[in-house]
Amino acid sequence: MEYPSSVNLRDPVQKYSKAFATEEDLAIAEAVHKFVDKEIMPRRLDLDGGFHRDRNLAEKTLYEIRKKLVDLGWQRAWFPKEYGGLEMDSSVTYAIFTEELSRGDPDVAELFGTAVWGLQAAMLVNNETVLKRFAPIFCGNEVCDGCFAMTEPAGGCNVEDVYCQHGRTIQTRAELKGDEWVINGQKLWPGPIIDSIIYSTACTIDPEKGDDGIVIIDVPKDTPGLSFSKPEELMGRVCTAKNGSIFYDNVRVPREYCSGAPGGQGAWVLKQMVSSRFDSAAQAVGPAQACLEIATDYLKDRYIVGKPVRDRSLIAATIGEMAMKIQAARSYYLNVAYMFDHPEIYGDSISLQQVARASACKNFATEVAEWICRQAMGLMGSYGYSTGAHVEKYLRDLPIIRIWMGGVHGAMLDVARGEYPFESW
Ligand SMILES: Cc1cc2nc3c(=O)[nH]c(=O)nc-3n(C[C@H](O)[C@H](O)[C@H](O)COP(=O)(O)OP(=O)(O)OC[C@H]3O[C@@H](n4cnc5c(N)ncnc54)[C@H](O)[C@@H]3O)c2cc1C
Repeated sequence: MEYPSSVNLRDPVQKYSKAFATEEDLAIAEAVHKFVDKEIMPRRLDLDGGFHRDRNLAEKTLYEIRKKLVDLGWQRAWFPKEYGGLEMDSSVTYAIFTEELSRGDPDVAELFGTAVWGLQAAMLVNNETVLKRFAPIFCGNEVCDGCFAMTEPAGGCNVEDVYCQHGRTIQTRAELKGDEWVINGQKLWPGPIIDSIIYSTACTIDPEKGDDGIVIIDVPKDTPGLSFSKPEELMGRVCTAKNGSIFYDNVRVPREYCSGAPGGQGAWVLKQMVSSRFDSAAQAVGPAQACLEIATDYLKDRYIVGKPVRDRSLIAATIGEMAMKIQAARSYYLNVAYMFDHPEIYGDSISLQQVARASACKNFATEVAEWICRQAMGLMGSYGYSTGAHVEKYLRDLPIIRIWMGGVHGAMLDVARGEYPFESW
């Protein structure tokens, strides 16, 4: 008997569950998939600066890829229509978009995301002053960077742990003097620190006030008093990384550049944390999928004792396990993104449970993705370890996804908190 064989799990239209993805989402997945195959896959190594880690080549390649995304309308997709955007607002759509782009290169997906991040607080509260001035720039024809700056030299996890710390550990201070905010402090690790249009900065007016002291202030580039370190050297995302310190020395911005009055802004930070965690999961699944495909393709034509390696049962079982874990990680983040978008059914998007779900799917997907990359490398032998096989770049680019957004352990503590009342500090 012939069994029907209509499913191809590489196919962008078939790999996302229609329980969560709309027809439009699937069309987007297909379009981004094709874009990645055509524009990114042939140039992935150039994104690393090639064998010689040539930063100029990396930046040029990155710019050219991102410019094509701008020309196709993707950069403006998530901004309001009145400023020239397309007003796409589904978290499921964004997560699928992220997975597909990240299959090509997680750093491209990351830089794309930070551009949206820069104005996210302003969009959350519809800060017209900020949006009127800056959103049209992001909706224009040029590649734009934005930056959301939370992490500080004294620690990222405690700042990003809004639920327990309530902003009490933020050390960057903002003071309202007349019609201006005056900011003093330092951020460490946000990116891109160079040439962002806007630096959306998490500050406190008084750490003792907790949540009520948190303010998100949008600082335009070239504001006097704003300066930067050199970018830090990183394990992955080598030549394109622009993460480092931002220094605020009596930085003054208009009163209206604060996204809303003090009070309640902790909730927005938390909302960003939740959505960024499940987006991070999607960003990890893309490279995992890519490594699975690279390994299975290579092992089709690689023979051990007269038989393709992938047809040996020991190897086929490992490939099966890789595919199983990818499907679980994908279903997980899609499920969480869908729940986030439907608070009327699943509760507030910043509830303890939603924080727990988003943290769990991030940790799960990142662990799975790193495991899959290592499996792919092992299955492919020395070729897997070579630059030309592409697996090693994915393996270097992945671990930071597990670390950012409050750290690996911080995320697990958030998962536990969703199960039972638990004070960790
Ligand atoms: C490439 C890159 C991009 C980044 N992008 C951004 C960005 O755009 N914006 C931004 O603001 N930051 C960004 N970061 C910073 C990142 O989010 C932080 O580094 C991360 O949150 C961890 O903070 P930390 O490094 O200070 O670790 P620490 O806070 O010093 O944590 C150290 C350890 O403590 C663990 N831990 C956490 N909570 C607990 C707890 N309750 N009990 C016990 N242990 C705990 C952590 O898991 C970790 O192992 C980026 C970093 C990199 C490298």
